[in-house]
Amino acid sequence: MKSAVKTDLKSLILSELQEHLRNLGEPSYRAGQVTEWLYKKRVDTIDKMTNLSQPLRKRLSETFSLGKIDAIRVLGARDTTRKFLFRLADGNLIESVLIPASLALYGGRSDRRTICVSTQVGCAYGCKFCASGLEGFSRNLSTNEIVDQLIAVERATGETIDNIVFMGMGEPLANLENVLQAIRIINAEWGLGVGARHITISTSGLAPQIRKLAEEPLQIRLAVSLHGATDEVRNRIMPINRRYNIETLLSACDYYKAHKKQRLSFEYILIADVNDSDDQARLLSRHAHRLSAKVNLIPYNSVSGLPWTRPSEKRQEKFLSILRGEGIPVTLRREKGHDIDAACGQLRLQTEREALASG
Ligand code: SAH
Ligand code: SF4
Repeated sequence: MKSAVKTDLKSLILSELQEHLRNLGEPSYRAGQVTEWLYKKRVDTIDKMTNLSQPLRKRLSETFSLGKIDAIRVLGARDTTRKFLFRLADGNLIESVLIPASLALYGGRSDRRTICVSTQVGCAYGCKFCASGLEGFSRNLSTNEIVDQLIAVERATGETIDNIVFMGMGEPLANLENVLQAIRIINAEWGLGVGARHITISTSGLAPQIRKLAEEPLQIRLAVSLHGATDEVRNRIMPINRRYNIETLLSACDYYKAHKKQRLSFEYILIADVNDSDDQARLLSRHAHRLSAKVNLIPYNSVSGLPWTRPSEKRQEKFLSILRGEGIPVTLRREKGHDIDAACGQLRLQTEREALASG
């Protein structure tokens, strides 16, 4: 028998909870008690909310669900990048990556533990270098599935996460409503209490949604996955560029910059003989100047089944030095052991392929 889908408690902000509780004839301070149980004590059933009366707990359980996600596979050890594979209630798989303090790139400080979270199951945008897009798009993650990735990783590791990047599987701006709601919960004092400046959304370039995000009051950071400085290069590896070309994308970024205090950043994966020429570096500098953007260079992580390779270290350094020479704030990710550091989406793909292979 199929039961009606209930709203998950971890998809509501405080004011919405207050309204629900008022509708149940309860004083609105009860909402604060509920969020305390959800985000500070982190109980996994409504029944454990013991300062609420038994009848109220029963009514809450009739109205709301309280989901939980558990890691079914963890790769990596403390002090390295760790990947967590989660099975969702409907059987879908997603992954999160915990990046240790020493490797943290976003949020500006090196003493922060960063989590890279997924926003969709699969991805519809099909970038040619990315494991997440290889098997197409299944569905958006719900708000609570996004929030729960943080809670589950903190629970599994006993560590506190202070920096969040929406750079896992999926395109966050294609699931903007749920992502923003999750951010409100993650950012709130009554929620997970992570500062907006320590939250970064990464997008492959959905220009209209960048404009929408610009109008949001939250002071979150935006990273744009550029990966090519001309339409010719971008068209080759990112199908989205045929819908929103570089000029359309950069002018949406201008609009974003005009509305926000935070500095934008460009992500740029270095792929041998595709986007790593001196010319691309010079044009990339020009785009970065225009937006006062910072550039993060990421040597390509190989994905099984895809033809691309990362450039030699010498080439990576040359590319970096051209940007530096133009005065662009730029980083080059140099960490070793990129087998496990391989970009999000790969662990899931590998697990699904193994499952298929074993029947
Ligand atoms: N869809 C969003 C966010 C998820 S992708 C976006 O595209 O920005 C997160 C980051 O991982 C992007 O910068 C993406 O380009 C990068 N990435 C994907 N595949 C990669 C690979 N094989 N090696 C290195 N980085 C990769
Ligand atoms: Fe999707 Fe981002 Fe991967 Fe492109 S890079 S396929 S937008 S997850």
